[in-house]
Amino acid sequence: MKPHPNDPVRPTVTLVGAGPGDPELLTLKAVKALRRATVALVDDLVGAGVLRYLRRSARIIHVGKRGGCASTPQAFIHKLMIAEAERGERVVRIKGGDPFVFGRGAEEVEALRAAGIAVDVIGGLTAGIAGPAAVGIAVTDRRFAPGVALVTGHAREGGSGPDWAALVKSRLTLVVYMGISRVDGVVQALLDAGMAPTMPAAVVSAATMAKQRHAVCTLGTLAAEVQQQALATPAVLVLGDVVAASAALGARDWPGGQVQAARAEASHWG
Ligand code: SAH
Repeated sequence: MKPHPNDPVRPTVTLVGAGPGDPELLTLKAVKALRRATVALVDDLVGAGVLRYLRRSARIIHVGKRGGCASTPQAFIHKLMIAEAERGERVVRIKGGDPFVFGRGAEEVEALRAAGIAVDVIGGLTAGIAGPAAVGIAVTDRRFAPGVALVTGHAREGGSGPDWAALVKSRLTLVVYMGISRVDGVVQALLDAGMAPTMPAAVVSAATMAKQRHAVCTLGTLAAEVQQQALATPAVLVLGDVVAASAALGARDWPGGQVQAARAEASHWG
């Protein structure tokens, strides 16, 4: 049933996945939501190129955390979204990548619903898949891996990290988010769990952004590579034979193209 024009508009917040960086990787749904918004709560990893799709009059509130600095407390972000939506603003919450991949999206949906606010979620390309793809790595190439596991290198406070031994045994490609600042610990955990030091590894930093860089190496040389090349956050670590397959296709030499370019090249090589 169509709402009557005099019906009060139900307060709504739209969680928007902004993708890994390149604004051209926004979905059309994301762009539509950005164009409608009157208030935007934005994470750090979301660049100016994405914010350009907001109206000029939209109010932009930066709520992200800079690596290592204090973050805006999550409860404060919830309160702010609720208050703005209840005031009748069209609120978008813009998050890097996909809102439901390590984005605290689920916690935000829960808090909003508990406050009686309707929530729409618009997915985005996640860095752990689009990042490797941007340098020619197909994380689920069936010739080399039965699938992929997206894991965090940053265990929740008081919580335990991934079960590395189970992951190594699974032969899944591993994509580690939030792992670069703790690369030594992640490498050690994987070696302790029985992963061979010769396992092909890659680091993709600032994937699909202007300053994208990557390195292809092995688990044993990963920490040194990160240090020598000064590869910085945001970055994903990739471990698995799929990396070697892509290196054979020339990923090592790529200056860092876009996902589309990578795909086109890969299919060109057939
Ligand atoms: N929701 C996001 C992930 C948020 S957690 C997504 O789906 O992509 C933040 C982590 O994502 C970073 O520490 C890094 O590991 C990864 N990340 C985000 N953007 C990235 C990018 N452009 N290149 C490489 N890694 C990125």
